[in-house]
Amino acid sequence: MNDKLTVVTGAGGFIGGNLIAVLRRQGNGQIRAVDVKPLEHWYQKFDDVENLSLDLNSKENCEIAAKGATEVYNLAANMGGMGFIEKNKALCMLSVLINTHMLMAARKFGVEHYFYSSSACVYNGNLQHTPDEGGRFIAPELKESDAYPALAEDGYGWEKLFSERMCRHFMEDFGLHVRVARFHNVYGPWGTWFGGREKAPAAICRKVIEAKLSGKHEISIWGTGHQTRSFMYIDDCIKGIGLITYSGILEPVNLGSSEAVSINQLVDIVEEIAGIKLQRIYEPGAPKGVNGRNSDNTLIKQYLGWEPGISVREGLKKTYAWIADQYQLRERGAAGVVRERENG
Ligand code: NAD
Repeated sequence: MNDKLTVVTGAGGFIGGNLIAVLRRQGNGQIRAVDVKPLEHWYQKFDDVENLSLDLNSKENCEIAAKGATEVYNLAANMGGMGFIEKNKALCMLSVLINTHMLMAARKFGVEHYFYSSSACVYNGNLQHTPDEGGRFIAPELKESDAYPALAEDGYGWEKLFSERMCRHFMEDFGLHVRVARFHNVYGPWGTWFGGREKAPAAICRKVIEAKLSGKHEISIWGTGHQTRSFMYIDDCIKGIGLITYSGILEPVNLGSSEAVSINQLVDIVEEIAGIKLQRIYEPGAPKGVNGRNSDNTLIKQYLGWEPGISVREGLKKTYAWIADQYQLRERGAAGVVRERENG
């Protein structure tokens, strides 16, 4: 009998829910899913795993979550897109409690593998105030060492950088097997797509769907639309988490696509998928983050011989279809979430 127990925190959210869906299919031992949200608000919930609604800011709850675990994937954080993190810095920083207490609990119960989800928001902001080059900001490929000297995204980015250090010292001083990935903008089905925490790809899909259905052929875009980012499709993210957790990569490593696109280009692609052209209304005062950023994948390729490769066009096609489906369901009063329909 396989007595492996895998714990996923943030299980009621986007990446955690998708990770559990994959772990279940792999069928390797038991799974415990933990999130602060009441169970009925989880994006995906599976009846064949142990589901716990716990606030992991508390040390006691982290011990309940980690007890007996072989592996921990810590994906819990109070976070969202730029609209959320620019206005909720203290709440973002408080997530330091989650990772600190989860590390302590993992140590206490002798967890064999611990994964922590950091972010590209740890990178030095000065490197990302790039000039505009013909309608889009230059997107510097940020390599892992560019996090220092530190000037992370205020609030959210500093919390991630500090928590990365905490992981490192638990590894160095206590011998805990910890691996850390710096995610660059993840998107895909089961991600937040409305309500204020959504990120650019989901927000743009939703706005295009709204415009199409309402017949009001306009779209509001935060900033000038020239901001550049790279966007990683969820399947690449889940694959990368698994590979990194079992790798020999001792330092935080980028997990992101290296296909940089501007926000205007994202809108072009979604318009094409939807078969519509919209009038663009720019909001220069809206939260927009740094000018440009991309993922330097030298290190991950060197270690794993792999990097995220699903194109933004391919990923957006699937994401658009999923959000369009959710939109219709919400309109029909199904609250926008259909649990266990696809995976249950
Ligand atoms: P998400 O918001 O969908 O999921 C995070 C989950 O954590 C939520 O369900 C939330 O309820 C839960 N949570 C928050 N506070 C908690 C607490 N005190 N106790 C227990 N659970 C709590 O976000 P996501 O996109 O799935 O992100 C997962 C992880 O990846 C986070 O750590 C995030 O910072 C990191 N990350 C995500 C992205 C991205 O683009 N999605 C980019 C960089 C890093």
